[in-house]
Amino acid sequence: MSEKILIVEDELALQETLAYNLKKEGYNVETTADGRSALEAARKSKPDLIVLDIMLPEIDGFEVARILRKEMSAAILMLTARDDEIDRVVGLEVGADDYLTKPFSMRELVARVKAQLRRARLLKEEMGKPVEEAKHETLTYDNLTINLTRREVLLNEQPIQLKPKEYELLLFLAEHRRQMLSREFILERVWGWDFIGDSRTVDVHVRWLRQKIEENPGEPKRIVTVRGGGYRFEG
Ligand code: CA
Repeated sequence: MSEKILIVEDELALQETLAYNLKKEGYNVETTADGRSALEAARKSKPDLIVLDIMLPEIDGFEVARILRKEMSAAILMLTARDDEIDRVVGLEVGADDYLTKPFSMRELVARVKAQLRRARLLKEEMGKPVEEAKHETLTYDNLTINLTRREVLLNEQPIQLKPKEYELLLFLAEHRRQMLSREFILERVWGWDFIGDSRTVDVHVRWLRQKIEENPGEPKRIVTVRGGGYRFEG
């Protein structure tokens, strides 16, 4: 059975484009154009993922996300139009799983949707099945392979030892490949809201990871530093 996606977007041209592209990927897609019908639709059809615009008639996307978070486990991918919305989107208040800033490419959107759904699927598999039966999903970048089921990382086909946080950080970076991720965003998503520490924690773990996965840790090619911003995973 294909996964269900609810699209909540009041710009109809964009709504149609989103629906078209996600249907093409084989998803079961439903659309709404305001916050109130989004709540109704989500409660009725229990989607696996919600693509949620912020500026909406009736009830805005912040409020929709806040309400649905408490009611269901659907992944929420928010669409923001302005930079100043991002803090609220990723903050404790809303807690979206991911966001895209308009304008974005459909390729990018589809990649993010897949990443979120894969994460949700693995979570379910881990809860339900013995490990041997679970499908081995892997991400591969040249000689680097991440085995998501076994939580194992291979370099030149040899397993490398990563601490749990190093693994989670690597996976998070890999799932947001080629996207600039700020230290704060990484800290919030990998370490969690209640983590006491600062963004230097991220720098330290990136340094450790580089020593393990970069050919030349002094001139990293996989996890690159973005000046004044954060990090970007190149693969
Ligand atoms: Ca809108």
